[in-house]
Amino acid sequence: MHSSVTLSSTPNVVDELLDSIEVGIVILNKQFEVEVWNKFMANHSGKRASSLLGTSLFEHFPEIDKQWLTAKVDPVFSLKSPVFIIWEQRPYLFKFGSSRPVTSAASHMYQNVTMFPLVGDSGSVENFCILVYDVTEQALGKRGMAELNEELKITSRVDGLTGLYNRRYWQERFEELYKLSKRRNKPSTAMMLDIDHFKRVNDTYGHQAGDKVIKMLAALIKRCVRETDLAGRYGGEEFAIILTDSTLENATRVAERIRGLAELLEVEHDGQTITFTVSLGLAQFEQSLNGPMVWLEQADQALYRAKESGRNQYCVHEVELE
Ligand code: GH3
Ligand code: MG
Ligand code: MG
Repeated sequence: MHSSVTLSSTPNVVDELLDSIEVGIVILNKQFEVEVWNKFMANHSGKRASSLLGTSLFEHFPEIDKQWLTAKVDPVFSLKSPVFIIWEQRPYLFKFGSSRPVTSAASHMYQNVTMFPLVGDSGSVENFCILVYDVTEQALGKRGMAELNEELKITSRVDGLTGLYNRRYWQERFEELYKLSKRRNKPSTAMMLDIDHFKRVNDTYGHQAGDKVIKMLAALIKRCVRETDLAGRYGGEEFAIILTDSTLENATRVAERIRGLAELLEVEHDGQTITFTVSLGLAQFEQSLNGPMVWLEQADQALYRAKESGRNQYCVHEVELE
Protein backbone atom coordinates (compact mmCIF):
# COMPACT_ATOMS: atom_id res chain seq x y z
CA MET A 1 0.00 0.00 0.00
CA HIS A 2 2.75 2.40 0.99
CA SER A 3 4.73 1.61 -2.08
CA SER A 4 1.99 2.95 -4.31
CA VAL A 5 3.04 6.54 -3.51
CA THR A 6 4.56 7.93 -6.68
CA LEU A 7 6.92 10.80 -6.42
CA SER A 8 6.98 12.31 -9.83
CA SER A 9 3.33 13.23 -10.14
CA THR A 10 2.00 13.67 -6.63
CA PRO A 11 -1.60 14.73 -7.06
CA ASN A 12 -2.93 17.72 -5.15
CA VAL A 13 -5.07 15.60 -2.92
CA VAL A 14 -2.00 13.73 -1.73
CA ASP A 15 -0.24 17.06 -1.15
CA GLU A 16 -3.13 18.17 0.98
CA LEU A 17 -3.11 14.95 2.88
CA LEU A 18 0.62 15.19 3.46
CA ASP A 19 0.25 18.68 4.82
CA SER A 20 -2.80 18.24 6.98
CA ILE A 21 -1.78 15.03 8.72
CA GLU A 22 -0.36 15.30 12.24
CA VAL A 23 2.46 12.94 11.42
CA GLY A 24 5.86 13.80 10.04
CA ILE A 25 6.35 12.40 6.54
CA VAL A 26 9.74 12.44 4.90
CA ILE A 27 10.78 10.66 1.73
CA LEU A 28 14.47 10.19 1.06
CA ASN A 29 16.44 8.53 -1.69
CA LYS A 30 19.32 6.13 -1.17
CA GLN A 31 21.69 9.05 -0.68
CA PHE A 32 19.44 10.38 2.08
CA GLU A 33 18.49 13.34 -0.08
CA VAL A 34 15.11 14.79 0.76
CA GLU A 35 12.33 14.31 -1.80
CA VAL A 36 9.27 14.92 0.35
CA TRP A 37 9.08 17.02 3.50
CA ASN A 38 5.58 17.60 4.77
CA LYS A 39 4.19 20.51 6.73
CA PHE A 40 4.40 18.73 10.08
CA MET A 41 8.16 18.40 9.54
CA ALA A 42 8.45 22.00 8.35
CA ASN A 43 6.50 23.35 11.31
CA HIS A 44 8.43 21.47 13.94
CA SER A 45 11.89 21.82 12.44
CA GLY A 46 11.48 25.38 11.29
CA LYS A 47 12.97 24.26 7.95
CA ARG A 48 10.85 24.56 4.86
CA ALA A 49 10.65 21.91 2.21
CA SER A 50 12.10 24.28 -0.40
CA SER A 51 15.36 24.63 1.53
CA LEU A 52 15.71 20.89 2.00
CA LEU A 53 14.63 19.25 -1.24
CA GLY A 54 17.49 17.65 -3.13
CA THR A 55 19.95 18.06 -0.26
CA SER A 56 21.20 15.50 2.24
CA LEU A 57 19.20 15.18 5.42
CA PHE A 58 22.42 15.04 7.44
CA GLU A 59 23.43 18.55 6.33
CA HIS A 60 20.44 19.97 8.16
CA PHE A 61 20.17 17.76 11.24
CA PRO A 62 23.53 17.31 12.93
CA GLU A 63 21.80 15.49 15.81
CA ILE A 64 21.22 12.52 13.52
CA ASP A 65 24.17 10.16 13.57
CA LYS A 66 24.80 9.32 9.93
CA GLN A 67 26.48 5.98 10.56
CA TRP A 68 23.79 4.87 12.94
CA LEU A 69 20.87 5.81 10.68
CA THR A 70 22.52 4.29 7.61
CA ALA A 71 22.90 0.99 9.45
CA LYS A 72 19.39 1.21 10.81
CA VAL A 73 17.89 1.79 7.38
CA ASP A 74 19.80 -1.06 5.78
CA PRO A 75 17.00 -3.67 6.06
CA VAL A 76 14.65 -1.25 4.33
CA PHE A 77 16.77 -1.60 1.21
CA SER A 78 18.23 -5.08 1.57
CA LEU A 79 15.12 -6.87 2.85
CA LYS A 80 12.43 -4.41 1.75
CA SER A 81 11.14 -4.53 5.27
CA PRO A 82 10.05 -1.73 7.58
CA VAL A 83 12.10 -0.57 10.55
CA PHE A 84 10.69 0.86 13.77
CA ILE A 85 12.36 3.06 16.32
CA ILE A 86 10.37 3.55 19.50
CA TRP A 87 10.89 6.35 22.00
CA GLU A 88 11.91 3.95 24.75
CA GLN A 89 14.94 2.96 22.67
CA ARG A 90 15.75 6.44 21.42
CA PRO A 91 13.62 9.38 22.57
CA TYR A 92 13.67 11.08 19.18
CA LEU A 93 15.14 11.00 15.70
CA PHE A 94 14.67 14.70 14.95
CA LYS A 95 15.34 17.04 17.82
CA PHE A 96 12.16 19.08 17.87
CA GLY A 97 10.94 21.22 20.73
CA SER A 98 8.06 19.82 22.71
CA SER A 99 4.73 20.50 21.10
CA ARG A 100 3.19 20.45 24.56
CA PRO A 101 4.35 23.64 26.22
CA VAL A 102 1.89 22.99 29.05
CA THR A 103 3.66 19.83 30.02
CA SER A 104 6.90 21.63 30.67
CA ALA A 105 8.40 18.34 31.84
CA ALA A 106 9.40 17.57 28.25
CA SER A 107 12.08 19.69 26.67
CA HIS A 108 11.79 17.85 23.38
CA MET A 109 9.28 15.91 21.36
CA TYR A 110 9.31 12.17 22.00
CA GLN A 111 8.97 10.30 18.70
CA ASN A 112 8.07 6.91 17.41
CA VAL A 113 9.53 6.46 13.96
CA THR A 114 8.66 4.06 11.16
CA MET A 115 10.79 3.72 8.06
CA PHE A 116 9.62 1.66 5.14
CA PRO A 117 10.68 1.04 1.54
CA LEU A 118 9.05 2.62 -1.49
CA VAL A 119 9.31 0.13 -4.29
CA GLY A 120 9.54 1.70 -7.73
CA ASP A 121 8.15 0.34 -11.02
CA SER A 122 11.35 -1.61 -11.55
CA GLY A 123 10.70 -3.51 -8.36
CA SER A 124 13.78 -2.18 -6.63
CA VAL A 125 13.81 0.15 -3.66
CA GLU A 126 14.96 3.59 -4.68
CA ASN A 127 13.39 5.61 -1.90
CA PHE A 128 12.19 5.17 1.59
CA CYS A 129 9.68 6.93 3.73
CA ILE A 130 10.10 8.06 7.34
CA LEU A 131 7.00 8.58 9.46
CA VAL A 132 7.50 10.57 12.64
CA TYR A 133 4.84 10.27 15.32
CA ASP A 134 4.68 12.72 18.22
CA VAL A 135 4.31 10.51 21.31
CA THR A 136 5.33 13.11 23.90
CA GLU A 137 2.13 12.78 25.87
CA GLN A 138 2.33 9.01 26.01
CA ALA A 139 6.01 9.10 26.97
CA LEU A 140 5.44 11.63 29.73
CA GLY A 141 2.55 9.58 31.06
CA LYS A 142 4.66 6.49 31.20
CA ARG A 143 7.70 8.25 32.57
CA GLY A 144 5.56 10.02 35.14
CA MET A 145 4.22 6.69 36.24
CA ALA A 146 7.69 5.23 36.52
CA GLU A 147 8.83 8.20 38.62
CA LEU A 148 5.79 7.88 40.82
CA ASN A 149 6.50 4.21 41.35
CA GLU A 150 10.08 4.99 42.21
CA GLU A 151 8.93 7.59 44.74
CA LEU A 152 6.52 5.12 46.28
CA LYS A 153 9.24 2.55 46.54
CA ILE A 154 11.47 5.01 48.34
CA THR A 155 8.78 6.18 50.77
CA SER A 156 8.00 2.59 51.64
CA ARG A 157 11.64 2.06 52.52
CA VAL A 158 12.41 5.19 54.41
CA ASP A 159 11.34 6.40 57.81
CA GLY A 160 9.58 9.76 57.48
CA LEU A 161 11.10 11.46 60.51
CA THR A 162 14.75 10.54 60.03
CA GLY A 163 15.18 9.65 56.38
CA LEU A 164 16.89 6.43 57.47
CA TYR A 165 15.63 3.03 56.35
CA ASN A 166 12.54 1.92 58.23
CA ARG A 167 12.62 -1.25 60.23
CA ARG A 168 10.94 -3.47 57.66
CA TYR A 169 13.25 -2.49 54.81
CA TRP A 170 16.29 -2.45 57.05
CA GLN A 171 15.50 -5.99 58.13
CA GLU A 172 15.19 -7.11 54.51
CA ARG A 173 18.55 -5.62 53.59
CA PHE A 174 20.09 -6.92 56.79
CA GLU A 175 19.15 -10.48 55.91
CA GLU A 176 20.73 -10.06 52.47
CA LEU A 177 23.88 -8.66 54.07
CA TYR A 178 23.99 -11.58 56.47
CA LYS A 179 23.86 -14.06 53.60
CA LEU A 180 26.55 -12.10 51.79
CA SER A 181 28.75 -12.17 54.88
CA LYS A 182 28.32 -15.95 55.03
CA ARG A 183 29.69 -16.24 51.50
CA ARG A 184 32.42 -13.65 51.68
CA ASN A 185 35.09 -13.62 54.28
CA LYS A 186 35.01 -9.95 55.12
CA PRO A 187 34.42 -8.59 58.61
CA SER A 188 31.18 -6.77 59.38
CA THR A 189 29.87 -5.42 62.64
CA ALA A 190 26.30 -4.97 63.85
CA MET A 191 25.61 -1.94 66.02
CA MET A 192 22.51 -1.21 68.07
CA LEU A 193 22.00 2.25 69.54
CA ASP A 194 19.43 3.52 72.02
CA ILE A 195 18.97 7.00 73.48
CA ASP A 196 19.49 7.13 77.22
CA HIS A 197 16.57 8.13 79.43
CA PHE A 198 14.63 9.26 76.48
CA LYS A 199 11.39 9.18 78.42
CA ARG A 200 12.80 12.07 80.45
CA VAL A 201 13.35 14.09 77.29
CA ASN A 202 9.74 13.59 76.31
CA ASP A 203 8.49 14.25 79.82
CA THR A 204 10.54 17.38 80.28
CA TYR A 205 10.33 18.99 76.84
CA GLY A 206 7.40 17.29 75.15
CA HIS A 207 7.02 14.73 72.40
CA GLN A 208 7.84 17.19 69.61
CA ALA A 209 11.14 18.02 71.23
CA GLY A 210 11.77 14.29 71.50
CA ASP A 211 11.13 13.93 67.78
CA LYS A 212 13.62 16.66 67.06
CA VAL A 213 16.25 14.86 69.13
CA ILE A 214 15.63 11.65 67.18
CA LYS A 215 15.93 13.55 63.91
CA MET A 216 19.15 15.32 64.86
CA LEU A 217 20.68 12.09 66.13
CA ALA A 218 19.80 10.32 62.87
CA ALA A 219 21.57 13.08 60.93
CA LEU A 220 24.59 12.65 63.20
CA ILE A 221 24.61 8.90 62.59
CA LYS A 222 24.45 9.46 58.84
CA ARG A 223 27.51 11.66 59.05
CA CYS A 224 29.43 9.00 60.96
CA VAL A 225 28.76 5.99 58.75
CA ARG A 226 29.67 5.22 55.18
CA GLU A 227 27.43 5.09 52.15
CA THR A 228 27.84 1.32 52.05
CA ASP A 229 26.81 0.82 55.69
CA LEU A 230 23.24 -0.11 56.45
CA ALA A 231 21.65 2.33 58.88
CA GLY A 232 18.02 2.14 59.95
CA ARG A 233 15.58 3.37 62.55
CA TYR A 234 14.85 0.13 64.30
CA GLY A 235 12.37 1.41 66.84
CA GLY A 236 11.22 4.71 68.38
CA GLU A 237 14.62 5.89 69.60
CA GLU A 238 16.60 2.83 68.59
CA PHE A 239 18.87 2.57 65.61
CA ALA A 240 20.50 -0.43 64.00
CA ILE A 241 23.58 -0.11 61.81
CA ILE A 242 25.59 -2.72 59.96
CA LEU A 243 29.10 -1.52 59.35
CA THR A 244 30.11 -3.48 56.29
CA ASP A 245 33.72 -4.44 55.55
CA SER A 246 34.60 -3.12 58.96
CA THR A 247 36.64 -4.83 61.65
CA LEU A 248 35.43 -4.74 65.22
CA GLU A 249 38.25 -2.37 66.07
CA ASN A 250 37.12 0.02 63.40
CA ALA A 251 33.52 -0.33 64.52
CA THR A 252 34.41 0.61 68.08
CA ARG A 253 35.97 3.80 66.76
CA VAL A 254 32.73 4.61 64.90
CA ALA A 255 30.72 3.82 68.05
CA GLU A 256 32.90 6.05 70.18
CA ARG A 257 32.65 8.83 67.64
CA ILE A 258 28.85 8.66 67.57
CA ARG A 259 28.72 8.50 71.37
CA GLY A 260 31.04 11.49 71.77
CA LEU A 261 29.28 13.63 69.19
CA ALA A 262 25.83 12.78 70.59
CA GLU A 263 26.98 13.87 74.04
CA LEU A 264 28.07 17.22 72.63
CA LEU A 265 25.00 17.75 70.47
CA GLU A 266 22.75 20.57 71.57
CA VAL A 267 19.20 20.44 70.27
CA GLU A 268 17.39 23.75 70.38
CA HIS A 269 13.67 23.57 70.99
CA ASP A 270 11.36 26.40 71.99
CA GLY A 271 14.25 28.45 73.27
CA GLN A 272 15.56 25.57 75.34
CA THR A 273 18.69 23.53 74.81
CA ILE A 274 18.34 19.78 75.10
CA THR A 275 21.33 17.51 75.59
CA PHE A 276 21.31 13.75 75.77
CA THR A 277 23.52 10.67 75.60
CA VAL A 278 23.35 7.32 73.83
CA SER A 279 24.38 3.74 74.56
CA LEU A 280 25.60 1.31 71.95
CA GLY A 281 26.13 -2.42 71.58
CA LEU A 282 28.42 -4.05 69.03
CA ALA A 283 28.71 -7.58 67.71
CA GLN A 284 31.06 -8.74 65.02
CA PHE A 285 29.90 -11.14 62.34
CA GLU A 286 31.08 -14.71 62.91
CA GLN A 287 30.86 -17.54 60.40
CA SER A 288 29.52 -19.70 63.23
CA LEU A 289 26.41 -17.48 63.65
CA ASN A 290 23.13 -19.28 63.45
CA GLY A 291 21.01 -16.78 61.57
CA PRO A 292 20.82 -13.01 61.24
CA MET A 293 18.68 -12.51 64.34
CA VAL A 294 21.26 -14.22 66.52
CA TRP A 295 23.78 -11.67 65.32
CA LEU A 296 21.46 -8.76 66.05
CA GLU A 297 20.55 -10.14 69.48
CA GLN A 298 24.23 -10.25 70.36
CA ALA A 299 24.48 -6.55 69.57
CA ASP A 300 21.31 -5.94 71.57
CA GLN A 301 22.71 -7.82 74.57
CA ALA A 302 25.86 -5.72 74.37
CA LEU A 303 23.65 -2.63 74.31
CA TYR A 304 21.86 -3.87 77.40
CA ARG A 305 25.19 -4.22 79.17
CA ALA A 306 26.12 -0.69 78.18
CA LYS A 307 22.88 0.49 79.79
CA GLU A 308 23.50 -1.59 82.88
CA SER A 309 27.05 -0.31 83.18
CA GLY A 310 25.92 3.28 83.42
CA ARG A 311 24.85 4.33 79.90
CA ASN A 312 26.67 6.86 77.66
CA GLN A 313 29.06 4.14 76.49
CA TYR A 314 29.42 1.26 74.07
CA CYS A 315 29.85 -2.41 74.89
CA VAL A 316 31.06 -5.22 72.67
CA HIS A 317 29.53 -8.69 72.52
CA GLU A 318 31.58 -10.76 74.95
CA VAL A 319 33.05 -13.36 72.61
CA GLU A 320 34.94 -10.53 70.91
CA LEU A 321 36.64 -9.43 74.12
CA GLU A 322 39.96 -11.10 73.57
P1 GH3 B 1 16.90 3.87 78.55
O1 GH3 B 1 18.07 4.72 78.87
O2 GH3 B 1 16.83 2.67 79.39
O3 GH3 B 1 16.82 3.56 77.12
O4 GH3 B 1 15.65 4.77 78.96
P2 GH3 B 1 14.53 5.31 78.02
O5 GH3 B 1 13.75 6.32 78.78
O6 GH3 B 1 15.08 5.78 76.74
O7 GH3 B 1 13.68 4.03 77.85
P3 GH3 B 1 13.17 3.32 76.57
O8 GH3 B 1 14.25 3.24 75.58
O9 GH3 B 1 12.57 2.04 77.01
O10 GH3 B 1 12.00 4.29 76.15
C1 GH3 B 1 11.84 4.82 74.93
C2 GH3 B 1 10.86 5.95 74.98
O11 GH3 B 1 10.96 6.68 73.78
C3 GH3 B 1 9.45 5.50 75.09
C4 GH3 B 1 8.68 6.40 74.19
O12 GH3 B 1 7.83 7.26 74.89
C5 GH3 B 1 9.70 7.23 73.49
N1 GH3 B 1 9.55 7.23 72.06
C6 GH3 B 1 9.51 6.14 71.26
N2 GH3 B 1 9.36 6.54 69.96
C7 GH3 B 1 9.30 7.88 69.97
C8 GH3 B 1 9.14 8.87 68.95
O13 GH3 B 1 9.02 8.59 67.76
N3 GH3 B 1 9.11 10.17 69.33
C9 GH3 B 1 9.24 10.53 70.63
N4 GH3 B 1 9.22 11.82 70.94
N5 GH3 B 1 9.36 9.62 71.62
C10 GH3 B 1 9.41 8.32 71.30
MG1 MG C 1 14.43 2.17 73.58
MG1 MG D 1 16.11 4.58 75.45
